[in-house]
Amino acid sequence: MDQGKNEMKTPKKDVLGLSLAELTEEIKSLGMPGFIAKQVYEWVFKKYRSEFADMPNISKMNRDKLAAHFVINRFLSTQAISSGDGYAKKYIFELSDHAKIESVVLREKTYNTLCISSQCGCAVDCKFCLTGFAGLKRQLAPSEIVNQILYAFQDNEPISHLVFMGMGEPLLNFEAVFKAIEIINSEEGFNIGKRKITVSTSGILRGLQKLLDHEICINLALSIGNAIPSKRIGLMPIEKTNPLTDVINMVAEYQKTHNRKLTLEYTLIEGRNDAPEDIKELINLAKYLKAKINLINLNPHPKIPLKPISNEKMDAIKSTILAERVPVTIRFRKGQDISAACGQLGESLLTPC
Ligand code: SF4
Repeated sequence: MDQGKNEMKTPKKDVLGLSLAELTEEIKSLGMPGFIAKQVYEWVFKKYRSEFADMPNISKMNRDKLAAHFVINRFLSTQAISSGDGYAKKYIFELSDHAKIESVVLREKTYNTLCISSQCGCAVDCKFCLTGFAGLKRQLAPSEIVNQILYAFQDNEPISHLVFMGMGEPLLNFEAVFKAIEIINSEEGFNIGKRKITVSTSGILRGLQKLLDHEICINLALSIGNAIPSKRIGLMPIEKTNPLTDVINMVAEYQKTHNRKLTLEYTLIEGRNDAPEDIKELINLAKYLKAKINLINLNPHPKIPLKPISNEKMDAIKSTILAERVPVTIRFRKGQDISAACGQLGESLLTPC
């Protein structure tokens, strides 16, 4: 029998998508002691077990009951590709319906960041992004988001920082992303602090409003494209329905009420957003929002008809920004050789299974 198909039909709840409090309630409602939830969490999140039969400190009777009501779904298959420079490792995960998503481990000097996907593909269609080119295939469930991190830990990649900058627009899958963050952040889950979790958005007004109302405070990164709206629209069509001016007001409100780090992500594209007036507007925006600027040179790809800027121009833009006393970093092209660099995820969606 095809085990994958069998699991898809089952109404069993996936432990990876339940907070400890939810799992405790579910377990109690089945007549088992609530502390079993903590034992299950320990086996799953600290010892990476995916079968209840492999949890020996739980009685056989309760293990059978757990197996009758819950699953711990792992990916159908995983492919890991390391970059030649050793700074990045890309995972391609196959979901239960054979759709594929990607995550990337980025190795810094003293810590590792995991860049994870929030959707399979993306509908936002930023012109500089391969995922946008592929389009949206489907939303991810909380368990599928959590599973990406679980896999990295199991693969001996100690992850201390998380960025939702992989495939998808996280604020268009808000409920699943923030349920996953609750599990990731919990002490019994991965215990990754909220200050080490960054959600990157293209500026979805509806999602930003939900973020303002939500109790979890995470760091925010806002993808700008071009700070001049009439030019932004050509790079980020979302400007039509989610104007940058409104987005800025909501982000400023989030800053005021949540006091978290804000980064403006700026993908540089020759002739589209590298003129002095473009950079001036970017600087003005960063000053207004008290934000750091992260410059990313476009990662060229045959499917993307845009060009990166030269290294000299990149350095000159960085100097201009620094001269205005605005913090700025340049994101290097880690993992470009394995299509793991920013804006390059989504190759697996373009490749037939
Ligand atoms: S940059 Fe982000 S929001 Fe834009 S198309 Fe790519 S994945 Fe979607």
